[in-house]
Formats: sequence, structure tokens, C-alpha cells
Amino acid sequence: MEVIRDPGEMTQWSNRCIGAGRTIALVPTMGYFHDGHTSLMRLAGRHADRVVVSLFVNPIQFGPGEDLEVYPRDFPRDRDIAERAGVAVLFAPEARSMYPNGFLTGITVEKLTDGLCGSRRPGHFDGVTTVVGKLFHIVKPHCAVFGEKDYQQLAVIRKMTVDLNWDIDIIGHPIVREEDGLALSSRNKYLDAEMRRSALSLSKAIRLAQTRAREGIRSARQLESEISGFIHSHPGTAVEYVSFIDCHDLEEKEIIDNNTLLALAVTVGGKVRLIDNGMLFPGPSNKK
Ligand code: AMP
Repeated sequence: MEVIRDPGEMTQWSNRCIGAGRTIALVPTMGYFHDGHTSLMRLAGRHADRVVVSLFVNPIQFGPGEDLEVYPRDFPRDRDIAERAGVAVLFAPEARSMYPNGFLTGITVEKLTDGLCGSRRPGHFDGVTTVVGKLFHIVKPHCAVFGEKDYQQLAVIRKMTVDLNWDIDIIGHPIVREEDGLALSSRNKYLDAEMRRSALSLSKAIRLAQTRAREGIRSARQLESEISGFIHSHPGTAVEYVSFIDCHDLEEKEIIDNNTLLALAVTVGGKVRLIDNGMLFPGPSNKK
């Protein structure tokens, strides 16, 4: 596996690869790899001849007071994991090479970024779409793999790719979970034993909502208050949002139907912000 730090060198590598008739799959990440990341890498390997993983803790998608400085990092460990997952190139640029002095340009996707994490983290999705747009230009992938764990992010990137005529296939990967249901996340590293028990309330809440929907509840408002109450019954939890949305356009729903997705953001222990989501009626017929 090659480690490339310079964006220009990355593009030269991609040009050679494409010139030799090979396809490239890109997996954008912020590192501190877990099994979710490696599943994305393996899926990428099934869709193209070469996998490029970007590892970049993108400063412009973090707001003031967020965890940019303390975001978990372990480059040697990530390099080994990526190598074992069959990655061809780990692209790990420095912030100053991605955003040199005088950088003035950004990409904004409207509407889809209005709710959920978009309204709670102003500027976050502009940072995400701008860096992913840059990565698309630098790496020139034929396809790119993103996790459904960041459901709004995946929807926003799909829209950006279509709207800006990028000939890149955007592939979603289902959420990878621990055996007890906790969605894997680099931020789980911050959880002590008690916080981890409380963090389980997110996946349990999704299962509870699925059960209540199966039992016949259709009012999003009723379910919202039940689910918020359930999460808050776990010590140290603060609900940021419990939202029932359409899985295609992300619009809030009043009445639950086959296309309804429950999206959650919860802060645990006053500092660890976790997200999770799930379809209320899971099944092949209503998946994106
Ligand atoms: P991150 O490094 O957290 O920015 O994540 C990089 C990519 O991995 C994003 O597309 C995430 O949606 C995806 N990802 C993170 N955690 C999971 C998970 N538990 N299951 C599936 N995909 C994930």
C-alpha cells in the first residue's frame, strides 16, 4: 500500500491508474478505523480495481467548540488496518495542502441540509461537500462508498454528485454495529463503561420505535415523545433530535409510513455526540 500526502501526487497516481485501464473506488474517512470503515473498504474493493482511502480530519466541517482538536487519531494503526483491508493508496493530506492560504471556494447543497445535523451544526455540510468535492477532483474515482450511519451526509453527497454532473457512482453501506447494537463510531472511544450503557439507548430506541410502528402507531409526534422519554431514562443522555423523516427527501413526517426513517442525535455524558438511524419498517422493499 502506498501512503500519499500530496494532492498533486495523488492525482498523478490516479491518472496512471486510469491510463492503465483500471477503475478506482474512493472511501473518504476521518480515520481512527473500526470495522465500519473496513467494511466500506472491502465493499469498495468489490466495485473497482483499486481502492483509495482518504484519511483527513477535515477542519472546515467542525464548528467552534466541537471536537476537532481531540478527534481520535492513530496514523500507524490506521495504516496497518488499511493495508490489511487491501487498500492500494492511503491518501492522508495535511490541512494546509487541502486549504492553502487564500482558499475561498465552497460547495453548498441546499434544502437537504436544512434539518437534522444541518440545523444543529451550522456550516458542517458545506465543509463536508467542499472536501468531498475536492477529493473527487483529486482522486478521480469511478465510485465512492459512504456509510448509511451518516444518512443525511449520504443523501447530500448523492445530490451534489447528480447536481454537479459527476460521473461517480455513490454506493451506500449499511450501518455496522457491535453485537449489542451500538453503531460503530470513532467517537465511541470517548465512552466510559457507564456512558457506553447509555449510548446503547440509541439502537434500543430504534428497535423500540420499530416495534411500536409494527403494533400500529402512526403518529410521529406520539412516537417522538415516547422515544425521547425512553432515551432520557438512561443516565447522562440529552436528546438533540428524534426525527421521523422520509428516507428519500429527508422531509419531516407527521404520519409514519413504509418510507419513514428514524434519525437520532444524542449527547452522552455531556460531551459525546452520537448519531444513529433506522427504517421503521426495515426490509428490502423500502430501502434506498
Ligand atoms: P468517518 O471517519 O466517521 O467520517 O466515517 C467515514 C465513513 O465511514 C463515512 O461514510 C461514514 O458514514 C462511514 N461509517 C462510519 N461509521 C460507520 C458504521 N458504523 N457503519 C457504516 N459506515 C460507517
